[in-house]
Amino acid sequence: MTTLEIQHDVPLAPLTTLGLGGRARHFTRAYDEVVLVAALRWADDQGLRSAILGGGSNLIVPDEGYPGLVVQMALGDLEFAPGGRVIAGAGVHWTAVVDGAVSRSWAGLECLAGIPGLAGATPIQNVGAYGQEVADVITEVRVLRRDTLTFESLTPAKCAFGYRTSRFKRDPERFVVSSVCFALREDGPGSVRYAELEKIVSADASLDEIRRAVLALRRKKSMVLDPDDPNRRSAGSFFLNPIVSASDAERIVDQALRERLVASPDLLPRFPTSDGRVKLAAGWLIEKAGFEKGTRRGAVGLSTRHALALVHHGGGTTSELLAFADEIRDRVQERFGVELEREPRLLA
Ligand SMILES: Cc1cc2nc3c(=O)[nH]c(=O)nc-3n(C[C@H](O)[C@H](O)[C@H](O)COP(=O)(O)OP(=O)(O)OC[C@H]3O[C@@H](n4cnc5c(N)ncnc54)[C@H](O)[C@@H]3O)c2cc1C
Repeated sequence: MTTLEIQHDVPLAPLTTLGLGGRARHFTRAYDEVVLVAALRWADDQGLRSAILGGGSNLIVPDEGYPGLVVQMALGDLEFAPGGRVIAGAGVHWTAVVDGAVSRSWAGLECLAGIPGLAGATPIQNVGAYGQEVADVITEVRVLRRDTLTFESLTPAKCAFGYRTSRFKRDPERFVVSSVCFALREDGPGSVRYAELEKIVSADASLDEIRRAVLALRRKKSMVLDPDDPNRRSAGSFFLNPIVSASDAERIVDQALRERLVASPDLLPRFPTSDGRVKLAAGWLIEKAGFEKGTRRGAVGLSTRHALALVHHGGGTTSELLAFADEIRDRVQERFGVELEREPRLLA
């Protein structure tokens, strides 16, 4: 067991992948559940707000910082139990979970290789990539209720997972995720059901081949954390892929053909969802609204390899980043009548 140690006036930018924003008035790391509870109680007793930080890869810190207590999750237990069961403390690096599963030939997470951050954050936005998402394999999420400071276990149904969302994302003040339990398939076949992946690995590829292929695809788009990559300071995809009605999708296809944005309807990327609506590619809308990859606005811009990632080139501010994001959102709305929603959370 560790004890509660509160630091003051701690810069948050180095703790995020964007490298932007001000300081936390108070800061601590929770290495176990006792300290986590003590930290939140300390903030309550001081009449302060508190916020949870994982690996800072999906978080935007305002320039003015955070006036309360930031608790960084450091609960580091990781267990690979018989039967393909994985129990990961919220502070475990996601890479350790994926790599540990793949090395045991446990299927279910191989396509989620290379996603930065910590295990405890994965249920928050139901992280997903290349045809997999954590909701497919989560069996239980252990949480701390912030109102009563007591722990409980939530079933997947209670987590209300959706596309890049969950109950935790919709209601961020309610729970802190303490650990996550996954049920993987021992010696199960890997998942190759995403067009880009199908082009480079066979349907019977090993889990490690799939993992490596995913990492190679991600690297090409600057979607892994690489200290030598000029696009390295980002929060991944800045906007969600919008889900629109079938009639809106048809309207956009007509517009794209009329304006010669595509030569044929099948060249406009879109994917039917199970409820009859259509998911559009936010990156396509952004580029066709006039923002080429690499577009710069001072110290911020679009990644040169991925139109959906906003990048900080150093020496910038969060205000600049948010102003650029607003410009993109407004232009896409004007051009296509589609509202883009920001993916990373603003620490406010
Ligand atoms: C290069 C890059 C590529 C990415 N690719 C993908 C991708 O392919 N798919 C994808 O889904 N995401 C992707 N992301 C986004 C991000 O990596 C994930 O959302 C990740 O799960 C965030 O983890 P984190 O620990 O960094 O969370 P943070 O950024 O620290 O936190 C994100 C949010 O979750 C909350 N939170 C974090 N931990 C907890 C907890 N234990 N309990 C309660 N709330 C918590 C925070 O308060 C905050 O609101 C990418 C990001 C980058 C930078």
